Amino acid sequence: MTTPVFVIVGGGPCAASAAATLRSAGFDGRLVVVAGEPVVPYERPPLSKDYLTGHLDGAELPVRPASWYAEQGVELRLGERAEGIDDRERVVQLAGGERLGYDALLLATGGRPRPFEGLQGSVGGERVAYLRTRGDADRLAERLRQGEPLVVLGGGFIGCEVAASARRLGVVVTVLEMAQVPLERALGAQVGSQLAEIHRDAGVDFRTGEQVQSVSETADGLVVTTDRSRLECGLLLAAVGMLPNTEIVTGTSVKCHNGIVVDEHCRTAVPGIYAAGDVAAHYHPLYGRHLRVEHHDNAIKHGAVAARNMLGEDIAHDDPHWFWSDQYEHNLQSVGFNEGCDEVVVRGSIAERSFARFCLADGQVRAVVALNRGRDVIAARKLIASGLRVSAAALRDESVDLRRLARAVVR
Ligand SMILES: Cc1cc2nc3c(=O)[nH]c(=O)nc-3n(C[C@H](O)[C@H](O)[C@H](O)COP(=O)(O)OP(=O)(O)OC[C@H]3O[C@@H](n4cnc5c(N)ncnc54)[C@H](O)[C@@H]3O)c2cc1C
Repeated sequence: MTTPVFVIVGGGPCAASAAATLRSAGFDGRLVVVAGEPVVPYERPPLSKDYLTGHLDGAELPVRPASWYAEQGVELRLGERAEGIDDRERVVQLAGGERLGYDALLLATGGRPRPFEGLQGSVGGERVAYLRTRGDADRLAERLRQGEPLVVLGGGFIGCEVAASARRLGVVVTVLEMAQVPLERALGAQVGSQLAEIHRDAGVDFRTGEQVQSVSETADGLVVTTDRSRLECGLLLAAVGMLPNTEIVTGTSVKCHNGIVVDEHCRTAVPGIYAAGDVAAHYHPLYGRHLRVEHHDNAIKHGAVAARNMLGEDIAHDDPHWFWSDQYEHNLQSVGFNEGCDEVVVRGSIAERSFARFCLADGQVRAVVALNRGRDVIAARKLIASGLRVSAAALRDESVDLRRLARAVVR
């Protein structure tokens, strides 16, 4: 009997999670991880937070130590890129020319920052930053330490987290957000507005409804022109979203639509090929449609589910998505999706920055966004997964123990 070969393309947390799950579930065949970056798979969340400010050492970033891969017989091919797939022959083509045959293939290629289109001519170089990799964070940290004013394009999670970290380092920060309210779709208008206020209280010039028209370079720095003003700065962070790395499936029968399209089992329509993590447009049974999610917990769980299914199981990923964001002393968490909700219930106080905001549809909790309320989020996850009805009054009433409510509901 020939030894089965499983190949994972991508060296992020999703790839690491899939490799660990394959080995812990007993896969003893050849396992190759083709990882484009030259470093052992690591966690990205600290890159905009404690790692950026120098409060977390690089040694703490890896998902697992390098020794784990060796001990587990995982061939970790660092700094190697997979260029394409022959889905008929079941072969992955590496940039160096090697052809790797596979029995099952997982694509966990993540994404890259969306380029900002408004850069004039040759603007770029050291004064314009993007943030996705550890290398990006190292370069950004070095620039921030020089103390020049920073303009952040985009008031999304990464933009906001970098703004908070830059303030922690004493940098003068302006955030330019095109929408009237930052992160309104993800958090709701009230919470998004409160987030902008948190930044303003920390000294950030947080501007909403202001659109950047161009960025040009002078001898001393950059000039950012918006529809309302002209700003000078030494450093610009473009945090205007992410593009999924789907190029590897070009020329195959794997479908792409805002990511690599997979079913609830993380399977593409091509036998033997799976996709997971930030790159995957996954059919979510709980929400009844395809979703591409750019959050850490999802990447870890997707990787595990894909791995089990590569081994012949039939597991659906139906977890209500969860993510967090740390900005200043505040911890924001969110579970689920608020689409189609007909009722909003706030427990606690948005103004006092301690709350859980529940979105319900037909009496069922569909989503929660919470600030500095980690415990409420744990209970809310159970409420969402249960799909059962709860009363708005009970959610609102701080004397009702949400954990008990969740336990009662789940039973
Ligand atoms: C700065 C930052 C802060 C974040 N903070 C949070 C947070 O607070 N909370 C949260 O929930 N989420 C956060 N996230 C999101 C989270 O990090 C991602 O959801 C997660 O990293 C996705 O994991 P992944 O393995 O799917 O993809 P990635 O982490 O993008 O990894 C993909 C890897 O595959 C490699 N690759 C791509 N193509 C190829 C190829 N052809 N050949 C070989 N290798 C290839 C890439 O180089 C990369 O190393 C943050 C992300 C960033 C960038």
